[in-house]
Amino acid sequence: QSQELSQVQIDYHAALQALVEDGTRMVCTGRMHTDRICRFESLCYSTEAEEFVYFHSNSSVMLPNLGSRRFQPALLDLSSVEDHNTQYFNFVELPAAALKFMPKPVFVPDVALIVNRFNPDNLMHVFHDDLLPIYYTMQQFSDLDLEARLFFMEGWSEGAHFDLYKLLSNKQPLLREQLKTLGRLLCFTKSYVGLSKITTWYQYGFVQPQGPKANILVSGNEIRQFTKFMTQKLNVSLEESSSEEYIIVFSRTINRLILNEAELILALAQEFQMKTITVSLEEHSFSDIVRLISNASMLVSMHGAQLVMSLFLPRGATVVELFPYAINPEHYTPYKTLATLPGMDLQYIAWQNTDKEDTITYPDRPWDQGGIAHLDKAEQERIIKSTEVPRHLCCRNPEWLFRAYQDTKVNIPSLIHVIRQTVKSKPGPKKQKWSGSLYPGKVRDAKCQASVQGTSEAKLAVSWQIPWNLKYLKVREVKYEVWIQEQGENTYMPYILSHQNHTFSENIKPFTIYLVWIRCIFNKNLLGPFADVLLCST
Ligand code: UDP
Repeated sequence: QSQELSQVQIDYHAALQALVEDGTRMVCTGRMHTDRICRFESLCYSTEAEEFVYFHSNSSVMLPNLGSRRFQPALLDLSSVEDHNTQYFNFVELPAAALKFMPKPVFVPDVALIVNRFNPDNLMHVFHDDLLPIYYTMQQFSDLDLEARLFFMEGWSEGAHFDLYKLLSNKQPLLREQLKTLGRLLCFTKSYVGLSKITTWYQYGFVQPQGPKANILVSGNEIRQFTKFMTQKLNVSLEESSSEEYIIVFSRTINRLILNEAELILALAQEFQMKTITVSLEEHSFSDIVRLISNASMLVSMHGAQLVMSLFLPRGATVVELFPYAINPEHYTPYKTLATLPGMDLQYIAWQNTDKEDTITYPDRPWDQGGIAHLDKAEQERIIKSTEVPRHLCCRNPEWLFRAYQDTKVNIPSLIHVIRQTVKSKPGPKKQKWSGSLYPGKVRDAKCQASVQGTSEAKLAVSWQIPWNLKYLKVREVKYEVWIQEQGENTYMPYILSHQNHTFSENIKPFTIYLVWIRCIFNKNLLGPFADVLLCST
């Protein structure tokens, strides 16, 4: 496939006239630069200035029209990493009349998705920051179909995993460098700029120490729809019924090594009575890794980007993440967060080397491979003595890098012990019944009837009908929660009930107004919405 753009024939003069007359048209979604995606007609890019250009004319549109707030700090994030100051998008403005004096525009006929990749050499970043967000941004806008073309503006070369990006559309993605070869002024007929962050689950620690995102919006269902797409595009055939169960040790071959890998494999095979195999990014094709992981019962690996491949594990499988000495597993949880997303249905186990004897450090390596020789002696001493890396910000903390790039001799009995605390019998995919969790609707026709006995006692009879969707569902347990609140009070009495009516008499006073809130609960933890509040006067 060439970089040729003219697969769709366009009438050059008509296109040029439209650009001069109509200028650029932009309409965006999102309220802030961090959640904005913009759709453009006739957005241009000067390959000399390396700037996007917006042309004003009588028909141009700019929504939102932010004025100079467009620079505070930017119109939008071009990558899926939130508010990173190297990833901002903006354009410069010109009157359409200026086109007369500019290089002749080259039109891009394909619908374009214009984004930044964040770190295309690291597999975790590739999947989490780029592939999943691109896939779901394309799902959001119907003209971003398989005929759309991706434009990567971050300025990197293809990187180690470019083949994966190619799977997302039928057209060859183009890099910033390549745009120069197409012309001096490129004009995108129709384009989308920015990436959806709706699928990301982790923040890497740019402003606060790394950890799960505060508001995760993705579930295993959407992850698996994506992996199904990728698996099909990779032409990986999944032998669903392939009977033999096995464990995968995903090894690293360059650094952060497992020093006793052979011993580990034997021990796992023996303990779980399963074939145990190793894979690595260096020694296996990506398709082979996906095929193997898709049917594995357990994935064992050192902490590291390769663990993002647990995306491809079948439901019910187990992820075992190994952490080198002095690295607290609770502080580095991209893969734990992934495995424990609702509906991922993976079991997650962390093991940490706690024995200094079993670690090999590399103080003399370059700083980016964890060397500390460049630090002053006292700091080196402190790091070497320390038993835990304190929480830190991304990305160049030398103590973190020093510990992250240790090799580890895995203490087999200790590892097996931790796994056995979670995996009691055989690990592996369970032929599970669909456990999609559906929530109840509102209870219906709620009514109350009060009765007063004397001057100090009263009763409140409350009844309601089942939520409308319940009659179409098989639900193991249906309960109702009722809150009784005296009007004007901040507190309420909560009750959990099994039936659709109840007469309350405790703490019910005569000649008082009560607010009654009712909701349905499926299977203990699926809480429905409250029905409209009932006003009941005794
Ligand atoms: N990598 C690998 N084998 C190795 C070391 C690294 O395949 O021995 C891969 C790793 O999976 C990641 C990339 O190289 O995709 C960069 O690794 P790095 O150690 O920088 O990042 P980390 O794994 O800690 O996220």
